[in-house]
Amino acid sequence: MDTQTTKSDRPMLIGGELVESESGEWIVSLNPATEEVIGRVPAGSKKDVDKAVEAAIQAQPGWAALPPSERGDLLRGLADALMERAGELLELEVRDTGNTIAKMKRDVEKAANLQRYFAGLGLELKGETVPASPGNLHFTVCEPYGVVARIVPFNHPISFAAGRLAAPLMAGNSVIVKPPEQAPLSASILAEICARVLPPGVVNIVTGTGPVTGDAIVRHPAIKRIAFIGSVPTGMRIQRAAAEVGVKHITLELGGKNPMIVFPDADLDLAVKGAVAGMNFTHQGQSCGSTSRLMLHSSIHDDFLARVVERVSALRVGDPMDEATEMGPVISKEQLAKVLHYIDAGREDGARLMCGGTKPEGAAFERGYWVRPAVFAGVTQDMRIAREEIFGPVLSVMRWTDVDEAVDMANATEYGLSAAIWTKDLKNALSTARRLQSGYIWINGTSAHYLGTPFGGMKNSGIGREEILDEMKSYTETKTVHVML
Ligand code: NAP
Repeated sequence: MDTQTTKSDRPMLIGGELVESESGEWIVSLNPATEEVIGRVPAGSKKDVDKAVEAAIQAQPGWAALPPSERGDLLRGLADALMERAGELLELEVRDTGNTIAKMKRDVEKAANLQRYFAGLGLELKGETVPASPGNLHFTVCEPYGVVARIVPFNHPISFAAGRLAAPLMAGNSVIVKPPEQAPLSASILAEICARVLPPGVVNIVTGTGPVTGDAIVRHPAIKRIAFIGSVPTGMRIQRAAAEVGVKHITLELGGKNPMIVFPDADLDLAVKGAVAGMNFTHQGQSCGSTSRLMLHSSIHDDFLARVVERVSALRVGDPMDEATEMGPVISKEQLAKVLHYIDAGREDGARLMCGGTKPEGAAFERGYWVRPAVFAGVTQDMRIAREEIFGPVLSVMRWTDVDEAVDMANATEYGLSAAIWTKDLKNALSTARRLQSGYIWINGTSAHYLGTPFGGMKNSGIGREEILDEMKSYTETKTVHVML
């Protein structure tokens, strides 16, 4: 941490003001492609969190009292303002994350789309009338919690920080956002936009570290509703910390070790492309929905594997700002060490490294967090690379002969986020889909999210579903009123 102010300092947002931390401390953010310092954000302290929550408490009643159509108009204004600065956001975000520019282009648009989607749903915040007794009136109303916290990870910082504001705001809450420490810079542009287009205190953005800033948010007694996107261990830590101070409503969008099952009758050309696209190498595999376990039927295994290895070996790794680049650097030194640890673990456990796993050669890769995308074959369920989320560019290929074996393998992890099934036999596809313990399943597809369909995980991959009307309702509590006539 640092205390001297520089030109690349980017403030946070509390009570409508762009501010530094009261501690005077800063967190440095590096470009993972070059290890250059590209900016700093305030290291938010517990006092900063307290101030942000106080501002949010003050702002919330006025915000909730606005007619839904006015809140919707303000959310649409937020979406427009984000799109006006989309180019600037894109450049900053690519430099801060190392994700490839060609793929990141849609992230700001995705955030704006979520805001526009929820902006139109305000009138769905309706209760019910219940014929509970003759002659009386029994009805329910949906009321906002008050102050809601959103804690987001590093892989899609602006998309999560900006887009996932929409549902709690539309439900009439004020929001505290905690951006990721490893890619916090785009949050400062979001802070400037919110300061301009929303009433003060309705959105507060507090940058800082998880154990200090994040923990202070989770433990704040006035925050009763927390929505978290991140890893399983942090999700569990948040549940524990929250339970120590009160009874809180927590939704969790967590990690995955997602299977892609390929049947012999699949369109193999499309499936090979789908297997590579499903790994999200454009984000260095750092995507919760990456299909990082590729399960191939024995009869197609060897040819399919060879084609996947050929494609993965040919991926253009390089400068994420170059439109032609297909994979950039992983986010940090620690993340690189984690990926390399799993490459070693794969070898130690007896899997065959078919390609990648080493640093690319050349002057351009001397600095930065680089590793070539890796494919392991001969992976079995007992291996660490079959069971644990790597969150990096490592694909584990497994072989099966019987559909029951494939389903058992697919279900044999603590995770249950997404899965993909490739076959031309729809009956087989649907019965397999019903047997998989995953919250989001593609048949003959991978990766894509479709707004308006529930996204979220089973088992340790999470609690709750987002990107749907129910997400907005999850930011309200039901109150029942009995009118004795
Ligand atoms: P992470 O380490 O769990 O961090 C996520 C966020 O939580 C960051 O803002 C982090 O702050 C904060 N945090 C850390 N410790 C905390 C604590 N004790 N209390 C409160 N907040 C705390 O995850 P990540 O490495 O950023 O992201 C990768 C993970 O996210 C993967 O597991 C991935 O699968 C998952 N993910 C899930 C989804 C989904 O929709 N299911 C989407 C994207 C990513 P710092 O940055 O300061 O540590």
